[in-house]
Formats: sequence, C-alpha cells, structure tokens
Amino acid sequence: MAKDISCKRSRYTLRTSDRRVFRRCLRKWDYISSMRQNLTRSGAEQNINFWFGSGIHFALEDYHGWNVYGDPRKAFYAYYNAFKEDELPLGAEACYELGMSMLSYYLTWYPRYNSATQFETVWLDENGEQVKPFTPGATPCVEQSFMLPLDVSVITDIETDTIYAKYVEGSENDAYAYPGQGTLVTVAPGDYKFDGEGMAVVQDDEHLWIDAQGVTHKVQVVPIFYHGTMDRIVSDKFGRWWILDYKTAKGADTNKLDTDDQIGAYIWAANKLFKKPIYGFIYLQLTKDSVQAPRRLKNGDLSVDKKQKTTYSLLKMEILKDYGSVDRAPNKIIQFLNDLAARETPEGDRFIRWDFVRRNEEQIANVEKCIYGELSMMLNPDLYCYPNPTRDCIWDCPVRDACIASDRGDTDTIEAFFKDWEKRPRNEDGNIDPWRENLPKPEVVREIPLEEILDSAKYMTIEFDSSSEETGFKFLYDDEDDRV
Ligand code: SF4
Repeated sequence: MAKDISCKRSRYTLRTSDRRVFRRCLRKWDYISSMRQNLTRSGAEQNINFWFGSGIHFALEDYHGWNVYGDPRKAFYAYYNAFKEDELPLGAEACYELGMSMLSYYLTWYPRYNSATQFETVWLDENGEQVKPFTPGATPCVEQSFMLPLDVSVITDIETDTIYAKYVEGSENDAYAYPGQGTLVTVAPGDYKFDGEGMAVVQDDEHLWIDAQGVTHKVQVVPIFYHGTMDRIVSDKFGRWWILDYKTAKGADTNKLDTDDQIGAYIWAANKLFKKPIYGFIYLQLTKDSVQAPRRLKNGDLSVDKKQKTTYSLLKMEILKDYGSVDRAPNKIIQFLNDLAARETPEGDRFIRWDFVRRNEEQIANVEKCIYGELSMMLNPDLYCYPNPTRDCIWDCPVRDACIASDRGDTDTIEAFFKDWEKRPRNEDGNIDPWRENLPKPEVVREIPLEEILDSAKYMTIEFDSSSEETGFKFLYDDEDDRV
C-alpha cells in the first residue's frame, strides 16, 4: 500500500459497518457514527464474539505475516494474556480452548487446501512494490488498515464536532454557496474578527461558519475517508492478487456472497490503493466448533455415531490405518464415510471452508455509486434520524435501552445509560487495539512448550499428507489466459 495513503488519519470516516448501520437504523447510526455523536463503549471489549474474533484474527495475522510467535496458537495465547483477568469478557476461558482447537485444525486444513492455489502473503516495500517476504524495509499485507480519501470534505464545529455542511470547493466567503444553511468565512492571520466579546487579532488561519440564524461557530474543513481493514492480501500461483478475509461464526454462510457489500467495497478500495489490480476475494469461514478425531468403541472399532464432530478426511485416515483400504472396511463404516463426504464440498468441510468471489467492472462501478449515494444522504443537513424497530433490536442494537428511553422522553435514563460510553478519540485511525501494547514478548512465548499452552490431550495432532487431491478441492481460476 502506498505510504501516503496508509498513514493518513481522519477524524471522520466511513466504514462498511457504518453503512450497514445507516441502512439498518438511522437512530442507532446517529449514536455511533463518527459523523454524528461518535459514541463507543468505554473500557475493554466485553462482547465475547468480538473479543474472540479479534484473537483469531491476531493469531492468523501473525502466522501469515511476521510470524514472531512461530505458531498461531502461541499468538492466540499471547492475545489471551494481553488482558488482565478483570478485563477478560465473560466466557473467555472457554473461548481460549475453542480457539486453540480451531487453530490446531486450521494448521492441518490450510496446507492441504492451499497446495492447489499456492497462496502467499504479499509483502510490499515502502514504494508499494511487491517484494520477497522478509525483504528489509518491507511489510506483509496482513491486517491492512486503510484510509481511502473520498474527495469529500465537511465543515465541522471545532468544539462539538457537529457537521454543518458538505464543503463546496472555493466556497469561502461566498454568501450564496450554501443557500439556507450558512456562510463559510475564512479569516487570515493578522485580520480582526469579532470573538463574541470584542475585536480580536487572528493568530492562525481560521474558518468560521455563520449559520442561518447569524450565529458564528469556529469550524474546520475535514476530509472524509473510507476506512477498513483487509485481513490479508495474497498472491496466487499465477501472481494474481486476492483479498483474503477471515470470518468466525457459528456456521458457514455462503448465501450472502453474491450480494455482500464488504466484498464489493474492499475490491473497489483495493483497486485504488494498490498498484496492482485485485483479482478476487477469498471468504474463509472458521466455524466456532472443535473438530474431534473419529471416536472408537471400547473394542477399538471405529464408531459410526453420526453425531460425532469429525470429518471425511479424518475418518478416511483412520480407516486406512485399520484396513489398509476403504473397500476392505465394513459396510456400515463405508456408509458413514459416504455420509460425511455428502456433508462436505470441495471448498471445505463443516469446520473450515473458503469461497472465491469475483466482481466485474460494472459491479465495482455500482459499488462506488452506492458509497457516494449513501454518503450524500448521510451529509444531508435535514436528515431526521428516525428509529427502525424490528425484532432484531433485542440482539443487534447496543443502544436499545437509550432508544426506548428516548421515545419516552426519559432523559435521566439516557444520561445513566451513556455513563459507560465515551466519544471515540478523533485522532484515531479507527482501529485502536490497546491490548497490543500488553502482548507478552514473542521471545518469551516462543520458549514455552506447546503442551503448556494447550491441553494437548484435547487437541489432535493430525499429520495429513498435504495433498489437495485428497480434499477434492480444485482451484477453478486456473485459466492461464485469464491472468491479470
Ligand atoms: S433499538 Fe432498534 S430502533 Fe432503537 S436504535 Fe436500536 S436498532 Fe434502532
């Protein structure tokens, strides 16, 4: 990523999640958007799902990037230990075990599936050129936070952060530029201005906004950026670039991929940010569940209990150990193996799968239209932020209590509710992770034997032969004529 873009910071950003909230409920958006009240919960993350997702992302960020911990499970251990006991959300301990189990399986799943694609993390030098991994001065494209300038600026109040208007180029001191809204006045250093009590000399360049009622506000003109984080940029065996995104969820969902707005927005943004076009998007889903080795009965035979959480490959491996070949196994075991095969697809099993998504030029152009269309509505000074109550409010709205109180006109409850909230710092780039400061030193964690950080009896050590043929996975984008 070009340095001048990644280093820019914005006080006002647009993220895919903001856009989703904007479309979901204007009142909720008004509370939390950086363009409105900009509120966020104080203290460490207490939502166990977010906390857990951050840990898995960090483990894979390290493993596929600098790999300072040498093993994603050690990186996950470091993440867990970056929190003081009273900062850990409820259920963190159980999630620690789950994370270790998921990452253990990932370590066997990934090389087998990746042998068909040969994805490698892209490393960029300071000029944004791709270089060999670990080239001095280069960085791996993992957890790539980006700020894409949208070429839209707003006039904001220096004290309250209120947005008064979308800035019009060259509108300074033009009384007709913002009809019915106000006038933007620029006062140069050395000029005199009326500061409310008397005339004062202006020290620095100042912008003032004189609203429709004639009240003067000290303002600044602030650019808006599209903000996001790309989990990983990989290059395939033909050198084409893909954005790889990790999702942790109860179960894999593929129905949304054709319409997923993050996929479109990230490809659109990456094509502007990087020197090389993005070929597609890899949606890698890790189910929050622990894979188990195929169970055995007391007599040592393989169990055919369909409820066991195992996979086709694991069972096949045990069958080969016991019988030498699948066709020599008893029918009921072959039947169970076939049942497991039917539940899997070439893209993965019920524990981990990846899907490949592409967007054509027309789709990317439409993404841009949507982003600017939504932004323009967000900046409409007359926008009334009405609520959109649905049955999802109970689980998808962190400000539900304030929303209910607001309809009742109960200002005391609203005030009490927001005691635990604060304004998000305006100088942040949107991704401040305070726990990163408290990560245990890699050289110390690397020395801890793996058995000490995970209860190895619970986590299988599966030695697969790294063959994509075994998985049935084929890289369908193998057409060499289609190279970008
Ligand atoms: S509770 Fe529902 S209606 Fe109220 S702010 Fe939240 S999402 Fe909107």
